[in-house]
Amino acid sequence: MEQLLKELEKEFNSRFITRGDIIDQYSSSPYLVSPVLSKMGKRILGVVVAEDVEDVRNLLNFCDMHRVPLLARGAGTSTIGQVLPIVPSIVLDIQKLNKTLEYDKYLRISPGVKVLTALNYLRKRGKELQVYPSSFYISTLGGYIAGGDVGIGSYQYGYHFDHDGVRRLTVMGTTGTYELQGKETLAVSQAAGTTGIITEAELSVVDYEDWKDQLIRVDEIGEVVKLLKNLEEDRPKIRRITIEDYETLSLVARGRVIPGRWNVIVSSTKSLGEEVDMRFLDELAFAAIYVTMSKLTGFSRYFYEVRLLSLESFLKVVSQVKRALGPKVLIHGDVMTLRGETIIYTVFISERENFEVIDSIMLREGIPFEIHSLVVNDRVDEEFRLELMKKYKQIVDPHHILNPGKLRT
Ligand SMILES: Cc1cc2nc3c(=O)[nH]c(=O)nc-3n(C[C@H](O)[C@H](O)[C@H](O)COP(=O)(O)OP(=O)(O)OC[C@H]3O[C@@H](n4cnc5c(N)ncnc54)[C@H](O)[C@@H]3O)c2cc1C
Repeated sequence: MEQLLKELEKEFNSRFITRGDIIDQYSSSPYLVSPVLSKMGKRILGVVVAEDVEDVRNLLNFCDMHRVPLLARGAGTSTIGQVLPIVPSIVLDIQKLNKTLEYDKYLRISPGVKVLTALNYLRKRGKELQVYPSSFYISTLGGYIAGGDVGIGSYQYGYHFDHDGVRRLTVMGTTGTYELQGKETLAVSQAAGTTGIITEAELSVVDYEDWKDQLIRVDEIGEVVKLLKNLEEDRPKIRRITIEDYETLSLVARGRVIPGRWNVIVSSTKSLGEEVDMRFLDELAFAAIYVTMSKLTGFSRYFYEVRLLSLESFLKVVSQVKRALGPKVLIHGDVMTLRGETIIYTVFISERENFEVIDSIMLREGIPFEIHSLVVNDRVDEEFRLELMKKYKQIVDPHHILNPGKLRT
C-alpha cells in the first residue's frame, strides 16, 4: 500500500492529500444521523482533489489497475451513507470541477457547481430547476444527480430525474467515457456514484414563479387527506406541500407560527390559506427533517423511519401510529406525485424502542424506503431502473471499484 500511495503522490502532486485532519474529514459523513449506519465507516487512504477531467481519468485508470476502491464526493451532505467509505478507499473530490454553468433552453453544468449557484444563476433568467434538494444551500449538482431523488418541486415533477429532469450526462468509468441521453441517464441518477463519475450534465428548467407559503390548520388526520385530494386539481399551481403534526411544527417554528393539531403548508401561486413567513420550511423538507430533529427533539435514543404512502395508506398508518403513541411520535410528510399518484414521503420520529409498534403498523403498507441502508437497491422503487444500473455497472466498472458495497448486483 505504501508504494501505491507514493505513486499517487507522484501522479497528482499536491492534489493528492494524506494529511491526518483531511483524512478524518473525508472519512466522515457529517450529515449522517442514522445510529445504524454511523458505525460502519472506515478510514480512507487519501484524497485526490480533481482539477480537470484528466485527473478523473487518471485516477480511474490508477484505481482500476490496482483494484483500489474509489469514492466520489461532492459536498458530502448525503444523509444515507452514500459518502461513507465502508472499505479503505481513495476519495475523489469533484468540487473544483465547477467551470461550466450555461443556460440555453436547458442548463449545462459541471458536477461541482453548487445547487445554490445554479439556482441564483437561473433566477436571474426567470427560471429554476424542476426539482432541487432542501440542502440546496450546501450541496453540489453532481452529488444531487448521483445521490439525490426527491426535493422541492416533487409535488409537480416527482423525482428529480422524472419528466426528463436529467436530459444528458457525460460519465467516466474505468473502461472509458460515455454519453448518456434520456432514459439511459437513469443508470446513474440515484446510483450513488457506483455506475460512473459524472463530469457534465444537462438539466431541464422551468419558469420561476412567485410561490407564496400558506398554512392550513386542521384538527383531524382525515381532514388532511381530504384537503390533499382537493388540492390535486390545482397541482400545476402548487410548488410544494408538507404536512406537520403539532409536535413537529412547534419544535421547528419556535414561536414563529402558531401550529394547529395538523398543519398543511402549501407553496402556491393561488390563495389557499393564511400566508405565513416560512423561511424555516427548508429545515423541514425531506432529509432536512431528520437532520434538524436529531438536534431538537431531545430523544435519548433518537430514531426515524421513512415510508412512501398513498393517501389511503397515510390515513390508515398515521391514525394508528398516533393512536398508539400520541405526542411521543413526530410525523412529517412531504407530498409528491409519483407516476401520476399523490404519494406522501412520510417520516416517523421517536425513541428507538417505539419503532416496534410503528414497524408493526406499517409492515405491509406503502413503498418501503429503507433509510438505514447503505445499499441503493433498498430505495430505488422501479425495477427497470435498478436493472439499468446493474447493466451499466458491468460496462462502466467491471472490477467494481466505484463506491463498493453500495449497489447489489
Ligand atoms: C439538510 C439536508 C437536506 C437534504 N434534503 C434533500 C432533499 O430534499 N432531497 C434529496 O434527495 N437529498 C437531500 N439531502 C441529501 C443530500 O444533501 C443531497 O442528495 C445532495 O444533493 C447531495 O449532494 P452532495 O454534493 O453533498 O453529494 P455527496 O453527499 O458528496 O454525494 C452523494 C452521492 O453522489 C456521489 N457523487 C458525488 N459526486 C459525484 C459525481 N460527480 N459523479 C458520480 N457520483 C458522484 C457520491 O459518491 C455519493 O454516493 C439533504 C441533506 C441535508 C443535510
